[in-house]
Amino acid sequence: MKQIVVISGKGGTGKTVITGAFAALAKNKVMADCDVDAADLHLLLKPKIKERNIFKSGVTAVIDKSKCTECGKCIKICRFNAINKDFVVDPISCEGCVFCSFVCPAEAIKMEKNVSGEWFISDTRFGPMVHAKLGIAEENSGKLVSLVRQKAKEIAEKRKCDWVIIDGAPGIGCPVIASLTGIDCALVITEPTLSGLHDADRVIGVARHFGILVKLVINKYDLNIDITKKIENYCRDNDIQVLGKVIFDKSIVKAMVEGKTIIEYRDGKAKEEIAAIWDRLQEIKEKR
Ligand code: SF4
Ligand code: SF4
Repeated sequence: MKQIVVISGKGGTGKTVITGAFAALAKNKVMADCDVDAADLHLLLKPKIKERNIFKSGVTAVIDKSKCTECGKCIKICRFNAINKDFVVDPISCEGCVFCSFVCPAEAIKMEKNVSGEWFISDTRFGPMVHAKLGIAEENSGKLVSLVRQKAKEIAEKRKCDWVIIDGAPGIGCPVIASLTGIDCALVITEPTLSGLHDADRVIGVARHFGILVKLVINKYDLNIDITKKIENYCRDNDIQVLGKVIFDKSIVKAMVEGKTIIEYRDGKAKEEIAAIWDRLQEIKEKR
């Protein structure tokens, strides 16, 4: 079983379009949406939730009013001003540092685990999918990404799948690192702009730091042939295989609006190019 992650240095490069197309093309796989801060693969794959689970992460102080003597020590020590004059903790301001519970003489403060989000195991028309939703202003998305990946891998092993196909988070932060560890190939999707090249370079740097095989796709390459050439030169100089280039095609947008992958939507150049990219990716099954 091989794990591939589709990533981009920033949002809006067509990462989810390509991942959704792979979902339609790959025969025996589990899908994982690791873009837990702004998941959108579900818009294409329309998962039917089979299992819903709570994701807990971090702690918040809670004051038991029946034990509190109103001595005020907790208010004084809290450098985040998270406890108000009525001895109630604001869960948004509380950083879970635990200091207040140490100083409380009445043992009135306990630390409770936060419900930070949810994760799901679902069925889609292309097979199983694991996905998640992080609560607003919640941190620890890296942890949630690791959880989604672990569950997807477990399902893939149980069902003897050939692939785990992961829609990674954009950017280069903690969730991306969590989507990269232990992966067989990171497929970077970029677009022909200078910022696209810059962002791809940054995320490639992160992937290579972890010793991960990197391949690249230039999406909407015909919008700027000069910069496409620059990206190809960059790849040649850095020993990165350009797995394919995808033409700008309005039917990709139309397919998304209808909640379909480009593979299902209609025949055309973009569909052919993405299918060819998927075919070329099969090499990693034999090589590694
Ligand atoms: S845990 Fe830390 S941040 Fe939260 S209320 Fe107590 S002292 Fe303040
Ligand atoms: S330190 Fe404990 S007893 Fe004192 S005000 Fe805070 S919660 Fe109440």
